Amino acid sequence: MFRRVYLDNAATTPVDNRVLEALLPYLTEKFGNASSIHYYGQEARSAVDRARHETSLLIGARPNEIVFTSGGTESDNLAIRGVVEGNRRHGSHIVTTAIEHPAVAGACARLEEAGCDVTRVGVGSDGRVVPEQVMSAVREDTVLVSVMTANNEIGSLQPVADIGRAVKELRDAGNKIWFHTDAVQAVGKIAVDVDELDIDLLSMSGHKIYAPKGVGALFVRKGVRLASQNLGGHQERGRRGGTENVALIAALGTACRLASKEIDANADHILRLRDRFEVGVRKLIPEIAIHGFDSERLPNISNISFRGVEGEGVLINLDMSGIAVSTGSACSSGSIEPSPVIVALGVDDDLARGAVRFSFGKYNTDADVDYLLGVLPAAVENLRKLSPRFRTAPGS
Ligand code: PLP
Repeated sequence: MFRRVYLDNAATTPVDNRVLEALLPYLTEKFGNASSIHYYGQEARSAVDRARHETSLLIGARPNEIVFTSGGTESDNLAIRGVVEGNRRHGSHIVTTAIEHPAVAGACARLEEAGCDVTRVGVGSDGRVVPEQVMSAVREDTVLVSVMTANNEIGSLQPVADIGRAVKELRDAGNKIWFHTDAVQAVGKIAVDVDELDIDLLSMSGHKIYAPKGVGALFVRKGVRLASQNLGGHQERGRRGGTENVALIAALGTACRLASKEIDANADHILRLRDRFEVGVRKLIPEIAIHGFDSERLPNISNISFRGVEGEGVLINLDMSGIAVSTGSACSSGSIEPSPVIVALGVDDDLARGAVRFSFGKYNTDADVDYLLGVLPAAVENLRKLSPRFRTAPGS
């Protein structure tokens, strides 16, 4: 029987009803501007303050180290451009990785066009950078190291603790260098503590943790010099001008509070579903590769290549059966290019083209996994029957 199964939680999550309830009053009767001195303003201000506290607790920060933004993309841009612009006199070299989200990659590329140097460190077949390789790319004039906490396509966890410690040691020795991590996929899924991991700047986003789209936060450790990118009022202590989006900020705070409380239970539930799915897929479908299977990865992402088929073909077939998944491929000049992240793992072109991301969330159930396992083998088999590549593939 047809059902709808949402397995694209790494793209976005549904809004938790408790988050919606926390948000709504700030769109109706509590509509004040958080900068106003009167009652309405103070009501809004206290919602923003509360959310700042809740957000800081989830990542082990202090409330005044949280800057609210419009989401992960803005947080990444503010961190990267803000640190580099704010520390020009110390250097203009950035060390980052080959598998960053376009928000980080794009900000780095723009700075490169403007005369900065960028070193992009590659990953192994497990989707992880080697900390020594990252640190050996650091130079006298490096001001920023930006390495994501968890990759958005395959979920591989990066060795941020080692990198954070090494960057801190350099700074303690007098170097002007800071460590940024894009933790948009990791926050709320695994424990992330900015002090334990020696993180100086951390990006997070509301819509990956059951809050609405269009709100996020940047953690900026006390003492980090950051050039504001949104010039305007003195909101967010001058680090991000613009009237605060009180309703969305209240929603983000609530989502963070819920995540703090429920992170272990959610991770257990999601991991159990993901594992059950992967055991089933391995049993039912030959010639597959589960990317990062043996490496440390997030509990919610399973990225699988099906040899001989296009990931898009699987996506469309599953969508017709009510199942929502994604691929990291992009359409460029009329042809489908495999995901740069999958290519960076060093897999052959055929496997890279067959990659599909299944990402689980707290609302998924065993029945969702059963339905998926009922539909997926036939979808892949039918596509393979049509594929000239699979007929000639070794072992087929
Ligand atoms: N960074 C990573 C790793 C992401 O996965 C995403 C969203 O998919 C972003 C940044 C961008 O976040 P937002 O959609 O809130 O702008």
